[in-house]
Amino acid sequence: MPVYRRFRNVIRIGPVEVGTYFDGRGRNRHTAACTAPGCGFSTDYNDRAAAELAARTHRCQP
Ligand SMILES: [Zn+2]
Repeated sequence: MPVYRRFRNVIRIGPVEVGTYFDGRGRNRHTAACTAPGCGFSTDYNDRAAAELAARTHRCQP
């Protein structure tokens, strides 16, 4: 069974989407994930600003 995370406050910066989700242990986590085909960039952050910065500075690997 796939695990569906419920993302909130999803924004898009270039090809990267940033969303916030509740990790079920009392904390919010923030994910920056690139939607470009073949890129595969996806990282979790404790801090929303860090996730948005990563999205803003992300460059797809060829
Ligand atoms: Zn990318």
